[in-house]
Amino acid sequence: MVRVSQSKSAKVVGVLALQGAYQSHAKVLDTLDVGSQEVRTPQDLASIDALVMPGGESTTMSQLLESSELFEPINKLIHEGMPVFGTCAGMILLAKKIIDGRADQVSFAAIDIEVQRNAYGRQVDSFEADLEIEIFDDSFHALFIRAPRIVKADQTVETLAELNGDIVLAKQKNVLVASFHPELSPDSRIHELFIKEI
Ligand code: GLN
Repeated sequence: MVRVSQSKSAKVVGVLALQGAYQSHAKVLDTLDVGSQEVRTPQDLASIDALVMPGGESTTMSQLLESSELFEPINKLIHEGMPVFGTCAGMILLAKKIIDGRADQVSFAAIDIEVQRNAYGRQVDSFEADLEIEIFDDSFHALFIRAPRIVKADQTVETLAELNGDIVLAKQKNVLVASFHPELSPDSRIHELFIKEI
């Protein structure tokens, strides 16, 4: 079932709903002044002004993007400038290069970063950290779950937050990515930042 929520604003943010933590994103969006639309088919793209790609399993999402025939139309929209926000697995889907991906894994190559899947090691599969984000007055409590690591970024990529020398929140043109899960923190400032772009 496609879930559509209405709001005062005319803008609608799509949430890629093939797999993963998409419901948490929709909940955060519902608290802000935007409507949200789950995206499962190419038809769902008609009404959206921006798109969130959630955390989950990027290899599975890659396969489902192809079988649902969403990959091509989403690719076109992103490269035409539609604002897009990828978290964790969503960031992997947007990266120019994926290390330790599956051989047949696709990506939108929409942000000039290289990401390594599951790069923070087994014993620290999940961890939490308070991030200092320059544009915010105080720190953001972030959850990292089997997080990908940004191992390389072009100098045109804007760093919004770092953790122990790694970029963890970055932006390039219409593309915002986080290696953590802002939708799981009770703090909507990063989603608000994204919505300002629309
Ligand atoms: N390790 C997952 C992947 O490669 C990402 C983890 C997540 O989104 N929490 O897709």
